[in-house]
Amino acid sequence: MVVATSRSTEVGFETVIGLEVHAQLLTQSKMYCGCSARYADAPPNTHVCPVCLGLPGALPVLNKAALEFGILTGLALECRIPAFNKLDRKNYVYPDLPKGYQISQYDLPLCVDGVLEFRSGGDVRRAGITRVHVEEDTGRLVHRVDELGVEVSLVDLNRSGVPLMEIVGEPDLCSPEEARDYLIALRQTLRYIGSSTGNMEEGAFRCDANVSTRSTDGSILGAKVEIKNMNSFRAVERALRFEERRQRDVLVAGGSVVQETRGWIEDRGVTAAQRTKEQAHDYRYFPEPDLPPLEVTTKLVEAVGARLPELPGLRRERFVLAYGLGASEASLLTAEREVADLFEEVVGPSPRPEEARTAANWIVNDLLGLQRQRGLPPDTLPLNSSQLRDLLNAVAAGELTVRAAKEVLPQIEDDELPRAAAARLNLLSMDDDAALRVAVAETLGAFPAAVSDYRTGKTAAIGRLIGETIKRTGGRAKPDQVRRLLEEALTSP
Ligand code: ADP
Ligand code: ZN
Ligand code: MG
Repeated sequence: MVVATSRSTEVGFETVIGLEVHAQLLTQSKMYCGCSARYADAPPNTHVCPVCLGLPGALPVLNKAALEFGILTGLALECRIPAFNKLDRKNYVYPDLPKGYQISQYDLPLCVDGVLEFRSGGDVRRAGITRVHVEEDTGRLVHRVDELGVEVSLVDLNRSGVPLMEIVGEPDLCSPEEARDYLIALRQTLRYIGSSTGNMEEGAFRCDANVSTRSTDGSILGAKVEIKNMNSFRAVERALRFEERRQRDVLVAGGSVVQETRGWIEDRGVTAAQRTKEQAHDYRYFPEPDLPPLEVTTKLVEAVGARLPELPGLRRERFVLAYGLGASEASLLTAEREVADLFEEVVGPSPRPEEARTAANWIVNDLLGLQRQRGLPPDTLPLNSSQLRDLLNAVAAGELTVRAAKEVLPQIEDDELPRAAAARLNLLSMDDDAALRVAVAETLGAFPAAVSDYRTGKTAAIGRLIGETIKRTGGRAKPDQVRRLLEEALTSP
């Protein structure tokens, strides 16, 4: 964008964005105590103990699974895992933080210097990952009006101490769209490796977006603003777009952008100033005295590395090369690991290209369609691999017409094989000549005009008759066989 500034020179602006993501780790228990970390539907303050309540004298013990998920994430993001790291206290006062400090990592994080490769606007982009560190979540405040009409804030500490990792990205992103695509790819990676659900609506994946504006000639450098409180990918993109516009307007008017934290207000579509940004020294970080420094051995890193699956970007490329699929089909198939797994289980190690394409079509169009219709989670398909294989085999063998297969699909019960469902619903193909001749005779009787057209040389009329006959069989007859029987009947005197 080129604008005239108040200094009446022509200046172009560019946007600089860096994201900080907090993701809940999929451990059974909390970060520093044995309480269950799966608190979703639990009544308030039922997943608590002296440690996560922050009672004096209670001692933390590090959750090994959380550490391993952090390392696994670092490896997936091509980070270096230093041998030595430690935990630090980040001190601040807030009602959802009973200890008055959060045990986090400050100057020696678990993972450093990584990269995330992602696709944006048709291009492959790479953005640096500064660091990944582990820490604990805070409790939650519930604001409501009580029976007396008084506004109260209640404290629920079920989430207090739940394992989190913070993934800090380099300021390598240059547009709101790119920021969204980076987040989508990051979330997909976390879901592939199983370290987090990445669910934004449930707060298991939270993003703070830092954004600044500078002039392309380097003469104007706007301050960095941190935006919080977005709870969807769309909200991140919208908030950044709003903020990009606002900062440019401020600079164009000759003002300066204030370095601050702003909150996204979803229903108004604006960001609003919350507080001036705190500095690291405000937190009075110091090494956590109740936990020893951590030594991450090569052996541990290797053991965790052995758990790394093939990551989505590579898997997508392999799907294009090995199975001859189109790029967008391959993207849809590999968006979730479980869906990609199902595809590969169904087609086996070296399918013929048309087998792979047929299976891909059924998954992308029919299974994912039904998944959406039923409101299933993105990693859950309505059929398992044996069911889908049975369906495809039945179609390939002519036991089910494509049309009948589509009719059977939504009526298949849990673990029922499609052929069994088709038999139950009387939808298996009719391939018995004798039975089909009855349908053919009925059709000829019902459409005398088409019959005489055909007999007087307008042979294209057979198309209509084929369609009508198939209709009479409830879509269970195969077109070739119907055509043969119709031709027999029409040419016999
Ligand atoms: P702070 O000390 O304010 O936490 P950091 O340097 O640690 O700042 O960066 C925090 C986040 O801000 C990172 O995600 C980083 O990419 C991003 N960031 C840093 N500088 C800029 C900038 N000039 N514009 C936009 N984002 C930035
Ligand atoms: Zn606890
Ligand atoms: Mg920082």
